[in-house]
Amino acid sequence: MSERPPHVTVNGRDYRWPTAPTVVICLDGSEPGYIETAIDKGLAPHLARLMREGAILTALSVIPSFTNPNNLSIVTGRPPAVHGIAGNYFLDLTTGEEVMMNDARFLRADTIMKAFADAGARVAVVTAKDKLRALLAKGLDFASGRAVAFSAEKADAATRAANGLDDALAFVGQPLPAVYSAALSEFAFAAGVKLLASFNPDVMYLSTTDYVQHKAAPGSEAADAFYAMVDRYVGALDAAGAVVVLTADHGMNDKHLADGSPDVLYVQDVVDRLVGAGLARVILPITDPYVAHHGALGSFATIYLPADADRAKIVAALSAEPGVEAAMEREEACARFELPPDRVGDVVVLSRRHKVLGTTAARHDLSGLAEPLRSHGGLWEQRVPMIVNRRLAGPTPEPLRNFDAFDVALNRIAR
Ligand SMILES: [Zn+2]
Repeated sequence: MSERPPHVTVNGRDYRWPTAPTVVICLDGSEPGYIETAIDKGLAPHLARLMREGAILTALSVIPSFTNPNNLSIVTGRPPAVHGIAGNYFLDLTTGEEVMMNDARFLRADTIMKAFADAGARVAVVTAKDKLRALLAKGLDFASGRAVAFSAEKADAATRAANGLDDALAFVGQPLPAVYSAALSEFAFAAGVKLLASFNPDVMYLSTTDYVQHKAAPGSEAADAFYAMVDRYVGALDAAGAVVVLTADHGMNDKHLADGSPDVLYVQDVVDRLVGAGLARVILPITDPYVAHHGALGSFATIYLPADADRAKIVAALSAEPGVEAAMEREEACARFELPPDRVGDVVVLSRRHKVLGTTAARHDLSGLAEPLRSHGGLWEQRVPMIVNRRLAGPTPEPLRNFDAFDVALNRIAR
């Protein structure tokens, strides 16, 4: 397309047309300490250089600090109240069923990639896990030849019609990675470097998985090796001339007792004592098919109560439980965290830094938790890094949100 608009408007925000390939990376579960430690140990020379030559900022994620709400906030530039993705999992009030929120029909806003593609740009999306691909790729026209979107997890199944390219394994030149592996994220990075070289995207979004971060704390051998890998690929993207903004969907904290067992408050048990057994429904929006990461235990829960329940009494009781950071009614939670009211229960509860929330013990399969639990979802996992490989032209929004990543990449860098 020859006539390019000076900017693209989507979800009420303007983005300048890129003058260089622009890559936004969501490094899943990247608690700030990981990169800081890797830099301190000399394992991340490219990121260390970007600290001097670009910008290293701190941003706040969306609450709940889970993967899908934050990835969708980053690619739409807006909070869940606008795009509708308030968790990985929710109670669909239109059907009364608890379902994964990874179907594209649940997304209520256009992505920035779609808006650029519609304006004539070449766009690419690579995710580690397939659970995000359909949401992130919503609205892309693969027949145009200007859009590519696939996951590392299902790279072997990529087709031109559904993903914009055939045989992604051969394209990337790596074998299909295991879904529970650091290699799944490395594949996404390797794909990004290849796409930058041969597909020439104007805008590209890369999203990794937090397999390593769930298992390994900052400074551990596995974490250091992972961030050294990330550093090599960030260096390659930078060397290829891309504008790179790296941020995260959420942080990660230890959530276990001294003996290594998860420190859990079972919310269904608390609520059952107050309203009667089985009458309330506790929803854990961290729930996804990849339970080996976290056993569906995170720091955010929402509760659907019987119509005659005393919400204020339940909020007070939950607030008094050890390890609870905050409990509040739906209206307060939706106002404070910019959430869609029709996808949030009557009460929201958040746990503290080292505590997680469950339903009842019997409903959690913890057999996949080989290491002491590390997880996320609450306020303690809201701080994330934002690293830019260019100097900024001026101040960034205050407070800076992770979903300002495209605004920073396209509007705030010095050109
Ligand atoms: Zn995540």
